[in-house]
Amino acid sequence: MKIQKFGGTSVGSAQRMKEVAKLILNGERNIVVLSAMSGTTNSLVEISNYLYKRNNSGALDVINQLSGKYNSVIKELYSSKMALEKGVEILQEQFDSLRNIAESNRNFTLFDEKIILAHGELISTALFNNYLVEIGIKSVLLPALEFMKTDKNDEPDMAFIKENIALQLDAHKDAEIFITQGFICRDYQGEISNLQRGGSDYTASILGAALRADEIQIWTDIDGMHNNDPRFVEGTKPIANLHFEEAAELAYFGAKILHPTCVLPAKQANIPVRLLNTMEPKAHGTLISNEEPKKHIEAIAAKDGITAIKIKSGRMLLAYGFLGKVFEIFARNRTSIDMVTTSEVGVSVTIDDTRNLERILEDLRKFGTVTVDKDMVIICVVGDMNFENIGFQAKVVGALKDIPVRMISYGGSNYNISLLVKAEDKKRALNALSKNVFD
Ligand code: ASP
Ligand code: MG
Repeated sequence: MKIQKFGGTSVGSAQRMKEVAKLILNGERNIVVLSAMSGTTNSLVEISNYLYKRNNSGALDVINQLSGKYNSVIKELYSSKMALEKGVEILQEQFDSLRNIAESNRNFTLFDEKIILAHGELISTALFNNYLVEIGIKSVLLPALEFMKTDKNDEPDMAFIKENIALQLDAHKDAEIFITQGFICRDYQGEISNLQRGGSDYTASILGAALRADEIQIWTDIDGMHNNDPRFVEGTKPIANLHFEEAAELAYFGAKILHPTCVLPAKQANIPVRLLNTMEPKAHGTLISNEEPKKHIEAIAAKDGITAIKIKSGRMLLAYGFLGKVFEIFARNRTSIDMVTTSEVGVSVTIDDTRNLERILEDLRKFGTVTVDKDMVIICVVGDMNFENIGFQAKVVGALKDIPVRMISYGGSNYNISLLVKAEDKKRALNALSKNVFD
């Protein structure tokens, strides 16, 4: 069994849904995970924002626009009267539920927002399943809210998921294919929740791990992960094979095609993840697995909006516990650190979330002189960077010989070197690396 996940643009119109149907109907009894149709989750966020501000009519306007859009989708998607009637029924139920929330005058809470956000995936999967049934497929809609669950730490509750997805599958022995919602789940108290924006990839990975699937496929509309950012560098190429660790670095440091949380469950369960292109279904795409990489540099990615903070302190010299205290300040202010470099008298770290920056700086100043560099970019080079492989770091650093580099981090894993440069030097750095490190 495979898990096949299609993102918002892949199911973004009636036409695209029909194309997805062609791709998945290959005689295999797979589980298809769908996102909401593109734009829908953003509209649902907009509705919630109106409701937080108690602007019910603003929310209802967006609901009506959305409902209009879906009415045209079903007219194009279905050809039989029966399927169309069922489509009308699906939309009625979902939009009634949205309107009920929008019209109620009680205090709008985060719980309500999560319920609203769940509608996108509930709609896309119900409409798609109804289409498959219309064309004669024994398709079964699996309700993610019955088996996708997170625990007290917001981590997937794997025991619960395994048990409950198995029950669902057992109940439909004659099904030819299964459709389910990405992104949505219940929290440990049983309330409707989600796996964060872009979380449908995560759903696919969790399900793949829970069912020990043969493969997890993430379908988008590019031909895999590219070896550099095509928006800034010409002639980038899809990467054929990647190690999970390399994929994790790239996903986190900028390659938008795969959500970073998706990597872990698949890696732990040792289930390959394949990134495929709906526009070119026969292409190899990118295969991510636990296969060790083969002595070359695979790819370059960049993460924008980085702030670097340097703490210089005489007290760090020969002292123990200094780094612990510095990191503690970031932990207390709920801010995660991306890069770290140290010397005997100072430490530099980078963060991307600056909401608590002022408080962090105030705390850090008790330890020494603090300087801040904003508008920085992390350039991440991934590949087989085992330290016994000589020459890779020289190539990377050499490629950037004309560019000011604020931090270099190497040796944290066997898979990457990260460099911090100014935003204005990003494009030059990406191009210089592309020219010099691949061969
Ligand atoms: N629909 C959700 C979002 O837009 C989840 C996803 O697409 O993966 O974030
Ligand atoms: Mg996505």
